[in-house]
Amino acid sequence: MTTTSGKPRGRQFFANPGPTNIPDSVLRAIDRPTIDFNDPAFMAVYDAAYAGLKRVLRTEQHLFLYTASGHAAWEATLTNLLSPGDTILMLESGYFSDTWARMAQALGLEVEQVAADWRQGAEIADIRAALAGDSAHAIKAVCVVHNDTATGLTTPLQDVRAALDATRHPALLLADTISSLGSIDVRMDEWRIDAVVGGSQKGLMLPTGFSFTAASQKALAAHAEAKLARFYFDWSLMVDRPQHSFVGTVPVHLFYGLRESVRLLEEEGLDNVFARHARLAEAVRRCVRVWSGNNGPQLFCVNPARFSNSVTAVLMPEGHDGDALRRVCRERFNVSLGGGLGKLGGRVFRVGHLGDLNEPMVLGALAAVEMALRIQAVPHGRGGVDAAMDWLA
Ligand code: PLP
Repeated sequence: MTTTSGKPRGRQFFANPGPTNIPDSVLRAIDRPTIDFNDPAFMAVYDAAYAGLKRVLRTEQHLFLYTASGHAAWEATLTNLLSPGDTILMLESGYFSDTWARMAQALGLEVEQVAADWRQGAEIADIRAALAGDSAHAIKAVCVVHNDTATGLTTPLQDVRAALDATRHPALLLADTISSLGSIDVRMDEWRIDAVVGGSQKGLMLPTGFSFTAASQKALAAHAEAKLARFYFDWSLMVDRPQHSFVGTVPVHLFYGLRESVRLLEEEGLDNVFARHARLAEAVRRCVRVWSGNNGPQLFCVNPARFSNSVTAVLMPEGHDGDALRRVCRERFNVSLGGGLGKLGGRVFRVGHLGDLNEPMVLGALAAVEMALRIQAVPHGRGGVDAAMDWLA
């Protein structure tokens, strides 16, 4: 709602796929004076938060953290594990797999891709074929964006692990869980993922500001041989530091927040957190399916086995602009949605449904979109929000 002066009133409904809503108790936890990052009082908080993050990752392996966003964790992971000219296999999933691949090329790596339709996701058979075809084991790492936030598409990490096992391929398995961790199940140790990349600002419900890599023993062995240039990100420089991470200043406030966000996740129970995300995601999909009547907006992902439970990308009908729709949502209703990324710019909008969310928050965002569809005269089937309510009730 905006007033006649144009100033928004009420809370902004933040339905962006990250950063996400920060729970009040996390905000309260962060709201405190600065403390030296080597102060024993901080180290106790750090140690508790660090241990908690490992439980969320379901790992007992080492974790390296950086005062930087997710891109940095991508770069840190590649430079700590690989050498110039090494080949990686990138599974195509959307804008984020493309960007990680471009980064790898810029760092001097050779990138082979398992090509995929962005609306379907990579075929496991194609992954297996690419690995089976590499009898010389030139591929040193397989990179997967677990949940591509641009396309709303999840790639099953267990199936990629199984493809590596079936072909007895020794490549490292690297997974970007930036928009899945804390929203969709990730089991680092059970699925034998060698490097898990994550960030603070999505399922962990924190401000943007740190990212990390959890590294397996096999990854640490690869690190000892890896020759890509690095300094701030060098894991070898980190291990002897008090936090065993961070070459520079530690973002202390975020660890007060992390300790609280892990407490919230564990209070709810990780499995219940994932079930809540699945329930809210299905409500969004049911709503969009109704809108798709009348040649209206439709689900971008058309492969139900790959639907993301943390974000839904919605494809606009030909001739209608997703960014114009988002503008109406923001300016008229104080609802913030995600836009289309890369070649999907203007063609899709994205509803984030991850983090600190409940039913009315999701329904409120969907209702604003449905009103904006009417205002913009975008053809659509009426009653999408009703379908979401039917599901949630
Ligand atoms: N990977 C995924 C899946 C993402 O969603 C994002 C950002 O949204 C990134 C990587 C890049 O992270 P950052 O924007 O924190 O640098």
